[in-house]
Amino acid sequence: MTSPASDLPPLSGRSFAVLRELMVERQIAARGVHDPRVLAAMRKVPREAFLPEPMRDLAYEDAPVPIAAEQTMSQPYIVALMVEALLLQGGDNVLEIGAGSGYAAAVLAEIAGHVTTVERIAALADAAATRLAALGYGDVDVHRGDGTRGWPAAAPYDAIVVAAGGPQVPESLKAQLKIGGRLVMPVGADQHAQQLVRLTRLGEADFKREHLGDVRFVPLLGAEGWQQPEPAGRTARDRDDPR
Ligand code: SAH
Repeated sequence: MTSPASDLPPLSGRSFAVLRELMVERQIAARGVHDPRVLAAMRKVPREAFLPEPMRDLAYEDAPVPIAAEQTMSQPYIVALMVEALLLQGGDNVLEIGAGSGYAAAVLAEIAGHVTTVERIAALADAAATRLAALGYGDVDVHRGDGTRGWPAAAPYDAIVVAAGGPQVPESLKAQLKIGGRLVMPVGADQHAQQLVRLTRLGEADFKREHLGDVRFVPLLGAEGWQQPEPAGRTARDRDDPR
């Protein structure tokens, strides 16, 4: 069925494969992501399969795509950048917070040994689990819950990636990282603008912190995140304004 907004026929599986290849070349490799395992994973996972049917034609756009419940599937380049920043070796035990569509979990599963992902919205967690299983990623463990507490049952982790922005890195997540492990997360005092941060656990209480650039993620809502969402467009400065 052709949507009224477009005269173009719907894309076939073969066209999606071509778009995926172009995405890797132009949006990801051209911007400096070079880890061959990350590029191979991004070449393999069918991004369109993680979107609701009416959104599929947007799967390979250079942008985040709306999924459901006001959440988004991250821009392809940002997924690749974050996965590369985890410095996976292959076979790693990985925790993702914010399963959303399940797409990034599939990319992680292509490289890691085991992936646990936690999502606070039940409908998204259920849909992600069903989709991942249908695509052959049945060994990814999808849980519904507050990911700011991590997932202690499968800890410690070689790598933790948080797909939502919080005011600081949750202590529970730091505690579930192996010595030598890496955590990548958007951190910022504003709910709608963050710095991408990588923590490397050097010792029991010793963490190296690196800043990887400016990003915009949906808020991390939970006990060790933001307590409640704020409308987009309001900034930390607006909050401080006495009006
Ligand atoms: N990785 C996803 C993108 C997720 S967007 C993908 O590839 O599609 C961020 C997700 O984080 C949203 O689905 C949101 O519901 C979820 N989220 C926000 N706060 C959370 C929390 N405390 N625990 C778990 N998930 C959370």
